[in-house]
Amino acid sequence: MLVSDVVANIQSIQARMTAAAIAAGRDPASVTLVAVSKTHEIHHIRPAIAAGHRVFGESRVQEAKAKWIQLKAECPEIQLRLIGPLQTNKVREALTFFDVIETIDRPKLARVVAEEMERAGRRPHCLIEINTGAEGQKAGIEPALADQLITLCRQQYSLPIVGVMGVPPVGQDPLPHFQLLANIAERNGLSVVSMGMSGDFEQAIRAGATHVRVGSAIFGERDYK
Ligand SMILES: *Cc1c(COP(=O)(O)O)cnc(C)c1O
Repeated sequence: MLVSDVVANIQSIQARMTAAAIAAGRDPASVTLVAVSKTHEIHHIRPAIAAGHRVFGESRVQEAKAKWIQLKAECPEIQLRLIGPLQTNKVREALTFFDVIETIDRPKLARVVAEEMERAGRRPHCLIEINTGAEGQKAGIEPALADQLITLCRQQYSLPIVGVMGVPPVGQDPLPHFQLLANIAERNGLSVVSMGMSGDFEQAIRAGATHVRVGSAIFGERDYK
């Protein structure tokens, strides 16, 4: 992918998001594009920032740190969202430069995040990650336990929980999974629903997504080598 394509891709995704929101009778401003820049180097990301894009997602704490301390120094209005699994021994570091943690998925992690927020005096908004397909090795709390975890995070740990996040199982119709996420958010009074990726963000918007996380359709295929 050419660096110059990145800005055109963001514009085209944003146009499709607007059309999907209007078709669903929603305000296009109620849906935010999270540009997922994992595996992509700084020189691929800078043009997006220069073109005015501000909201980005990364999956790994170490990789994100190496890129975004620099990029946030260049542009302090960046909002960086953690969308990958968080180990408890990385929480302290993650809290120093992530602005939103989308992947709270277990009581122990909630407790450590609460302790480290107290210590750091920094309280990034948090989302609860839900494993809507109850898939074996996948991150996220089981849907049946989601309400309980949300209540624990709020009451026991006073975490700033603002929403839910999820990734539907590969190869299934994502719509029921999106609807489940939207329902869990609604019944818990949470306003943020992070769902939808390159292949399904329009359906996610129809189902009520407030944040879509789009990577490859913006930055091209990922090379994990
Ligand atoms: C990588 C990733 C994305 C982006 O996926 P694309 O299919 O490249 O748009 C979104 N959400 C999560 C949790 C991811 O890990």
